[in-house]
Amino acid sequence: MYMKRKLFGVILVWTLGLGISFFWNVQSTLSHREALIFQSARTLFEQMVITRQWNSSYNGVYVKVTDGVHPNIYLKDPQRDLRFNGIFLTKINPSYMTRLVSEQTHKKLGVQFHVTGLNPLRPENRPDTWEKAALESFAKDDLMETGEFVEDEQGEYFRYIKGLAADASCLECHKERGTRLDEVFGGISVKLFNLPDTRLTPVVTGHLIIWAAGLCMILIAGLKLIKAYRTIYDQSVLDGLTQIPNRRYFNERLALEVKRNQRTNTPFSVIMADIDNFKSYNDSYGHAKGDQVLIEVAKAIDGVLCRPLDFCARYGGEEFVVILPDTDEAGAGHIAQLIIDRVRALDIDHHHSDAGRRITLSLGIACRTGVKDDMGLIHEADVALYLAKSNGKNRYELFTGD
Ligand code: GH3
Ligand code: MG
Ligand code: MG
Repeated sequence: MYMKRKLFGVILVWTLGLGISFFWNVQSTLSHREALIFQSARTLFEQMVITRQWNSSYNGVYVKVTDGVHPNIYLKDPQRDLRFNGIFLTKINPSYMTRLVSEQTHKKLGVQFHVTGLNPLRPENRPDTWEKAALESFAKDDLMETGEFVEDEQGEYFRYIKGLAADASCLECHKERGTRLDEVFGGISVKLFNLPDTRLTPVVTGHLIIWAAGLCMILIAGLKLIKAYRTIYDQSVLDGLTQIPNRRYFNERLALEVKRNQRTNTPFSVIMADIDNFKSYNDSYGHAKGDQVLIEVAKAIDGVLCRPLDFCARYGGEEFVVILPDTDEAGAGHIAQLIIDRVRALDIDHHHSDAGRRITLSLGIACRTGVKDDMGLIHEADVALYLAKSNGKNRYELFTGD
C-alpha cells in the first residue's frame, strides 16, 4: 500500500511536471504567433509608408482615369487632372494611393489598409471606435503603435495601427486644418485576415506521447519495484518453508499485542506447540517428507485461527507458537484442542511415535490478564509444553504456576 501510494505520487509529479511544460509551451507558441503576426503587420505598414514617401517625393503620380480610378475630389490641386495625347490622367496623392493599393492587397493577400485621423478631410477616413481610441492614446503618450486580435462577423483577424507624422506633401491639403509639420495627425491601420494557424497540434501530440511513454516507464519500473519490495517484505516476515509468519515477525507482533493488552487489560493467551517425535519421523521417512509435514501442520494450525487478531508463527524447528489476544484459559484450551484434532485429522503415518501411529502435537498454554513481561509468558507456555510432553504427548497442558 505504501509503495502503491509512492507510485501514485511519482505519477502525479510526472503528470504535473508535464502539465506545466505543456502550459508553458502553449503559451510560448501563442505568444510566438502573436509576435510574428505583429511583426508582419508592422512590416506591411512600413512598406506602405515607404510607398507613400515614394509617391510624395514626386509630388504625386499621374495615372489614367479608369472605372476603378477616379479623380480625387479631396485633392485641392489645380493640376489634379490632365489630358495628354487624348488620355485623361489624374493625380494620385499618397492618401489616395494607399486606398487603391489597399483594394488590391485586400483581394489578393487578405491585407487591408485604412488611412485615418481624428479630423480627416475625407469622411470615409474617420476612425472606427478602436482606431479612435488608439489615435487618442497616441496623442497622449509616446507609444505610437498597437495591435490586437479580433473575432467578429468577418472572422478572426489581426488589426494594427501606427501613428503617422505629417510631411510636406500632407500639409498641402491638411495645412488649412492647422496641421503642423511632423505632427502626428493620423495613422494607418492594417487588418490581416489570412492569419497563420495556431500550431498547437505538435505541442499536444508531443506532450501526450512523452506523457504516455513516461507513464508506461514509471508503471513498469514501479510495478517491478513493488514486486521486489513485496518479495523482500515476505522474505523478512514469512517462514521460507511453511509460508506462515517467522519468529522475527512473531516477536514484533507479540510486543505489539502485549502493549494493546496492557490497555485493554483482558486475558491474553499464548500457545507453544511442538510436533511429537519429529526427529524419529525425519530419521525414518526422510527430511523431504519431514518438510512436507511441517508445511501441512503449519497450514492446519493457521486454519484453526479465525479471529482477526489471532496469530500463529513458526517458532523454530518443529515448534509453532500461537497468540490469542482477548482469550481466557478456556478459550485457549478450546483452540489447542481444535489444533490437536486438526493435526490428527491430517492422518499422517508415524509408526515410530510413542504418542500413537500418526503425527501428533503437544501444546503448552500460558494465560495472563494485563501482561507485563512477554518473554515470561513464552517461558510459561514452554513449561506447560514440557508438562504435556511428560504427561504422554498428543495433548495440551495449562501453565498453572505450580
Ligand atoms: P519430542 O517429541 O520430545 O518433541 O521429540 P522430537 O524428536 O520432536 O524433538 P527433537 O528436538 O529431538 O527433534 C526435533 C527435530 O525436528 C530435529 C530436526 O531434525 C527436526 N527439524 C527441525 N527443523 C526441521 C526442518 O526444517 N525440516 C525437517 N524436516 N526437520 C526439522
Ligand atoms: Mg522441539
Ligand atoms: Mg518435537
